[in-house]
Amino acid sequence: MFTSIAGRSVVVTGASKGIGRGIALRFARAGCKVFVISRNLYEAEKIAAEIVTSGGIARAYAADISKKLEAEAMAVAAVEVFGGIDILCSNAGIYPSARLGVMTETDFDLVIGTNLKGSFLSVSACLPAMKAAGKGRIILTSSITGPITGYPGWSHYGASKAGQLGFMRTAAIELAPFNITVNAVMPGNVFTEGLRDMGPEYIGKMEASVPMRRLGTVDDVANAALFFASDEAAYITGQGMVIDGGQTLPESLAALEEMSPG
Ligand code: NAP
Repeated sequence: MFTSIAGRSVVVTGASKGIGRGIALRFARAGCKVFVISRNLYEAEKIAAEIVTSGGIARAYAADISKKLEAEAMAVAAVEVFGGIDILCSNAGIYPSARLGVMTETDFDLVIGTNLKGSFLSVSACLPAMKAAGKGRIILTSSITGPITGYPGWSHYGASKAGQLGFMRTAAIELAPFNITVNAVMPGNVFTEGLRDMGPEYIGKMEASVPMRRLGTVDDVANAALFFASDEAAYITGQGMVIDGGQTLPESLAALEEMSPG
């Protein structure tokens, strides 16, 4: 159905686990050359090795995307290794919890610095290569939390994820003349290693709040990112796609209860 994107080079930040790992593996299965980024080189190398072992093309690189020089070095290395950057999946993010009154300025700066400023720095670093090529695809990993919903302990996180969408809209306008699109995936609760560690009781509660009665998989999110990177999505820019099994739809608990068949 979709034109192949095999052979394109993709930089995936935060690719050593969770959603980023899922995106890296999905793009590798589609034939892309994957630059696997995390702060921990050893962990990134494990994912690159997983891709190479299954017949794909990948290289690992360590960069802290909240630091300008490291983000720039990452983009330079991607161009050296793969000859250019066709796609950036700006996915690295953190979500430590702290309620207002307890949350410190340091907590706030760390989350905004990684999730929002990190997206700005990753995009800025990859732009020269995309502009030189006359095309590019940028896919940000935002969230439902912030743009649509809230969750106690995550005011800084929600601000960072809503901020990514604000950043995206103006970036999309500025970069359209360069044939570069900027879009965002907005996952609901995705079953990752981190969530698994929260235990079955927590997971059960989360599943009960989703009309589709299951958590998202990393492939659910990666498939949406792959669509934004496809030729068929060439005319879509500045848009967020919610991938949440309907989680943000019920207007109340009653709506969820009423949905039971029979
Ligand atoms: P995760 O499993 O904790 O993975 C986070 C990844 O980001 C790791 O590879 C981590 O590797 C990397 N990372 C963190 N800080 C970094 C930095 N400063 N520089 C470079 N890499 C960094 O997280 P996840 O749950 O997959 O979440 C990934 C993204 O999806 C985030 O943006 C998150 O906000 C978003 N999201 C997640 C969910 C969900 O349900 N999981 C829902 C909505 C949105 P190192 O620690 O080695 O650097």
